[in-house]
Amino acid sequence: MRVESVLQELQPLLDRFRTAAVETDRSGRLPLEHLRALGEAGVYRLAMPQERGGLAAPPEVLWEVNESLAAACGSTHFVQAQHQGGLGFLLRGNAGLLHEDHLAGRRLCGVAFAHLRRPQSPVTVETTPTGWIFRGEAPWFSGWGLMDEVVLAGRDERGVDIYALVPLHSGIEGIQSPPLSAIQASATVSLRLHDLVVPRAALVLTQTLEEMARRDFRSQLGYTALPLGLVREAARWISSETVRRCLAERADRLRRRALDWTDDPSEALEVRAGANLLALQAAQAAVVSSGGQANQLQHPANRLLRESSFYFLTQLNAPLREVAFDKLVLQDWGPAFA
Ligand SMILES: Cc1cc2nc3c(=O)[nH]c(=O)nc-3n(C[C@H](O)[C@H](O)[C@H](O)COP(=O)(O)OP(=O)(O)OC[C@H]3O[C@@H](n4cnc5c(N)ncnc54)[C@H](O)[C@@H]3O)c2cc1C
Repeated sequence: MRVESVLQELQPLLDRFRTAAVETDRSGRLPLEHLRALGEAGVYRLAMPQERGGLAAPPEVLWEVNESLAAACGSTHFVQAQHQGGLGFLLRGNAGLLHEDHLAGRRLCGVAFAHLRRPQSPVTVETTPTGWIFRGEAPWFSGWGLMDEVVLAGRDERGVDIYALVPLHSGIEGIQSPPLSAIQASATVSLRLHDLVVPRAALVLTQTLEEMARRDFRSQLGYTALPLGLVREAARWISSETVRRCLAERADRLRRRALDWTDDPSEALEVRAGANLLALQAAQAAVVSSGGQANQLQHPANRLLRESSFYFLTQLNAPLREVAFDKLVLQDWGPAFA
């Protein structure tokens, strides 16, 4: 399999996902077939190294794939991104747990770790001679009924975070959340853990909260492709050529800054928060352009507006929240995208 052939196979999938996006958005769970088809096309191999069966695609290619998928269907992109995030954890922490079936999309793996950023982790871990017992409730898990397993994280007695690969059956209950405003089709639940016994062999990695915070910037920056994909899609619903050009120029600048990024945390936050704001503006412009019908939930501009709001929430941590407040309200108008 080559990168070029994956990109070719992806094109008809994007058209299919875009055509179905309204219906997907209105459903409680996106079709499993979307996730499988991406696996068959080779999309989950793109970011993986060659020695693990991957294609080691260049960053520009990965970026373009993420933007175009997010543009076609936000829910599909978000859930497949959870799977790819799970594979990223396995690769980094315990590559022995990474299987060909994961890369081919026959075995799907979500993540539940965002709760560690809360002052008190709602998931605790007790160390035993053979492994761990996980207890509590992880408030966010996307892909319930779609994923086979989860990279689940909790905090142990020493304050160290334990990440383990766990099958999604006995000992884990999915608690349905109230209806979501955006990406309802992500099948997001909270995971209630009933004294979940996890053997030592399931360990993916351990890290402290400080290490997690240091890594957050990289993934927050990587997810900038999602709001920028939304900007691209919103332009389809904007009648003014001048507005479309302005949005495209701002998106180009943010994309270039993201691809040129060299590990500076404040730059990562600036770019991500700038892209979130640009997506919100683009979606609102699409609503204005579409008129009263855009107030109908099934209108594409309405969906984009709701998704743009969601992009402010995903990967939210204290530093990103500060920059978001700044961009949304506190900063002077004008230099926001300089
Ligand atoms: C639809 C949906 C699907 C999601 N799917 C997943 C998933 O599959 N896997 C996953 O791991 N996550 C998932 N998330 C979580 C997401 O990435 C964010 O972590 C989450 O939206 C942030 O909201 P929160 O209510 O958990 O955090 P909040 O409690 O609002 O906190 C946000 C941040 O503010 C800071 N903070 C909060 N309270 C305090 C305080 N008292 N003192 C100091 N700092 C504080 C913390 O840094 C915290 O991370 C999902 C979220 C949504 C909305």
